[in-house]
Amino acid sequence: MTRSLDLVVTAVATQLMAANAANAAEVSERILADLVAYFDVDVSFLRHNDHEIHASILVAEWPPRPFVPDPDPLRVIYFADADPVFKISEHSKKPQVFRPEPATDEYRQTIEGGGGVPDISMAAAPLVSGDVTTGVLGFVKFGDREWLQAELNALEAIGSLFAQLQGRILAEEQLRYLAEHDDLTGVYNRRALVAHLEERLGPDHSGPVTVLFLDLDRLKAVNDYLGHNAGDRFIRVFAERLRTKTADDCLIARLGGDEFVVVPDSSMDTTEAEALGQRLQSALRERVSIDGEMLTRTVSVGVALGHPGVDSASDLLRKADQAVLEAKDAGGNKIAVFSEDLSIRTAFRNDIELHLQGVIESGALVLHYLPEIDVCTGDVLATEALVRWQHPTRGLLFPDSFIGVAESINLAGELGRWVMRTACAEFGRWRSKGVGLNAVLRVNVSPVQLVAEGFADTVGEILREFDLSGDSVCLEITESLVVQDIETARITLAALKAVGVQIAIDDFGTGYSVLSHLKSLPVDTVKIDKSFVRELGSNAGDLAIVRAIIALAEAFGLGVVAEGVETVSAARTLAEHRCHRAQGYLLSRPLEGAAMEALFAKGRIDLPFEVAAPVSG
Ligand code: C2E
Ligand code: MG
Ligand code: MG
Repeated sequence: MTRSLDLVVTAVATQLMAANAANAAEVSERILADLVAYFDVDVSFLRHNDHEIHASILVAEWPPRPFVPDPDPLRVIYFADADPVFKISEHSKKPQVFRPEPATDEYRQTIEGGGGVPDISMAAAPLVSGDVTTGVLGFVKFGDREWLQAELNALEAIGSLFAQLQGRILAEEQLRYLAEHDDLTGVYNRRALVAHLEERLGPDHSGPVTVLFLDLDRLKAVNDYLGHNAGDRFIRVFAERLRTKTADDCLIARLGGDEFVVVPDSSMDTTEAEALGQRLQSALRERVSIDGEMLTRTVSVGVALGHPGVDSASDLLRKADQAVLEAKDAGGNKIAVFSEDLSIRTAFRNDIELHLQGVIESGALVLHYLPEIDVCTGDVLATEALVRWQHPTRGLLFPDSFIGVAESINLAGELGRWVMRTACAEFGRWRSKGVGLNAVLRVNVSPVQLVAEGFADTVGEILREFDLSGDSVCLEITESLVVQDIETARITLAALKAVGVQIAIDDFGTGYSVLSHLKSLPVDTVKIDKSFVRELGSNAGDLAIVRAIIALAEAFGLGVVAEGVETVSAARTLAEHRCHRAQGYLLSRPLEGAAMEALFAKGRIDLPFEVAAPVSG
């Protein structure tokens, strides 16, 4: 008998060794079936304890019940309202036997509970791990059955084998959890995301698989000013809001930093995905309190669709990443959808980025100069330095194709300093020859430069180096910068005024709200954006805006320059409305340095039109 009991325990051990999280219930059931036969009992069950909710949970049973109600009343049994047989399995450490003929009156009462003596006997072996009872193995016989000590010893051993399996599965699950989840936020990590996408992009799955790539705008500022703990807490709140907003029908993963990916369980077209993106954006925009500071951060969203059997997980993520970069480039707080066109632009951008790194040392940058003309007299009043890049394979590139990239890779400061020095050096040289003495040099300044520390000092040094007075140099800043960060703009502009340079607001009219600040900012000139000037003379709406800008400039005592004069009627209209200063292809194309010097020496251009007298009033 003892010999065969040993064999039973060994057989159980062997079977359990092969079990894992996926097949544990099935293997357990097979073992229970063997034990039912061996011990000649009617029912056997395996239950685990959940000490958090104080309940016993059914894991496996044999034989299967012919009818299991839904919900199954036997699945979760709370110890608080369990009958005594279950109740003791919460903490019991040794096998227990329950017999129909109880040993004491007291026991008889608890078991009977007023009813008849139950016609069953039962043995219960606890699953014990350390000093915690993790479950119970139960054997029920309809009618009486005596349990020998040797049998109970065997049950104890079997119980501890089951406890071992349970511990192993738990450890496996924890490991898997750690391997698949992000420490900081508890959402999935990149590895789990890629596995999920690869599964969904398998050849016979339905598609498309929709991906939303989310990237917080300017989280760096939170880290920089409030510290990384604050940044981490911010990211946690962000993750929590994503979880609440997407309910249970999306997979959420964090790729690191402030990058999150949301994958809806069902296919969405781009319109639906954009709508979801907007809902997420508005939830994430709500304020967060960190260390008593109320913070808000907007988020950029990139959408991409992957097609099963065609795209790989990394293709899809790369597309969504490109889309989110596009959204960021557009100023943040935007949603961009991936397209092939975007892919071509990204390739171009990457190529630019690659070559731009060494551009300053390589001497590939050049300045062209755009004259500013008095449309009534043809006098050359000023010149604007415009940077160009002699690209090794793409030819002469215009600033719109590389200034943005330079800003994104922190090269704008260096590039801007090069422009500033080179333009001042050249202008200083012309003036030392007596050329352009009454003229002004205009230099464009990127927003990144303007907010960089020590910018005004650098400008002052350059002016001294080339012996230029402040009033002969004018810096052009874009309206959008002033609108975005009025306080920084105010401080830097004041510092620049102290150095003595003039300041113009470029592309005026495109940013609207700066009008209200015009009075309080130390600005000398506004340059009317070329979009309002191009059709001047034929577009009444544009004329109304241009007139309003001119009137405003007059009211504040500011100079005004029109950009983008391409037609005679535009030039005439400007002259009629007392805006004499203008730039544009009608008057002159941007010139190389030598040509600009020659034009300054000449002092004026021949106007291609006659000007009528200005309208008064
Ligand atoms: P912006 O400062 O408004 O410069 C005027 C732009 O309009 C120039 O383009 C000029 O060539 C163009 N333009 C002039 N007249 C006409 C016209 O009649 N019709 C049309 N359609 N365009 C005209 P460009 O050189 O491509 O410069 C584009 C922008 O790049 C500039 O706009 C300026 O914001 C920026 N930029 C240029 N050089 C620099 C620089 O050195 N640093 C920085 N940060 N930005 C620069
Ligand atoms: Mg400009
Ligand atoms: Mg402009």
